[in-house]
Amino acid sequence: MALMQRKLWKQASLEEIKNFIIEEYKKQSENPCPVDKMRVFTDSTRRTSCGECVICREGILQLNVITEAISQGKGRDGDIEILTEISDDLILGSCCSYGKEVGKITKKIIEESKEEFEKHIKRKRCDALVCKKFFSYYVSPEKCSGCNKCVEECPQKAIAGDNNLIHVINLDICDRCGKCTVICENAAIQKAGTVVPKLPQEPVPVGSFKAEPQNGGGLMAGRRRRRRS
Ligand code: SF4
Ligand code: SF4
Ligand code: SF4
Repeated sequence: MALMQRKLWKQASLEEIKNFIIEEYKKQSENPCPVDKMRVFTDSTRRTSCGECVICREGILQLNVITEAISQGKGRDGDIEILTEISDDLILGSCCSYGKEVGKITKKIIEESKEEFEKHIKRKRCDALVCKKFFSYYVSPEKCSGCNKCVEECPQKAIAGDNNLIHVINLDICDRCGKCTVICENAAIQKAGTVVPKLPQEPVPVGSFKAEPQNGGGLMAGRRRRRRS
């Protein structure tokens, strides 16, 4: 299927190409992070470019490489300008409408979400908590029932706990795969950005951990403290 698509774009009508690109873009419509949205969109469209002209083949690849780096916390000053330039090059220089339509969408994402791109690059923050480098998982002491189901589910063995204990995630081991969030029926495994609640440092009996207000800020006032294995 992909190979057929690779060969067809030059002969395809503008409408066919637009419909294909828009469908690819729509797959990310629920993604709240524009950087991740662009990363996934450029990854799929680079694979279905026929690769005949350099600007489309290399341009979409570069858009993908740069957005991947930004989502990994390796964004650099000037990245937004480079992404915009490449998008413009795609619009102007692609030899069929496929590259042009991809460029129009990536330029639109950048223009509409410049602030979010800057936060990822300069402040290493993903407000939507989508980019894995910029969030961590924690077990809410108030929601955890100590059922112990997440321990078996974790491929990294990053969760400490036993029956009737509030479980604790070791952030040095957790790779943020999210599998534990699916198995937890209490929605006790949650995401945090730069600030996380005050948490027990090791498993303690369910009901024994009380969140203490800090500086009037309540549960969310605690700074992240990484546990050492
Ligand atoms: S713009 Fe060039 S490389 Fe891209 S799909 Fe069209 S012909 Fe192929
Ligand atoms: S985090 Fe969820 S799955 Fe894990 S022990 Fe607590 S309630 Fe059970
Ligand atoms: S996110 Fe994945 S690695 Fe991290 S604690 Fe959950 S299951 Fe384990």
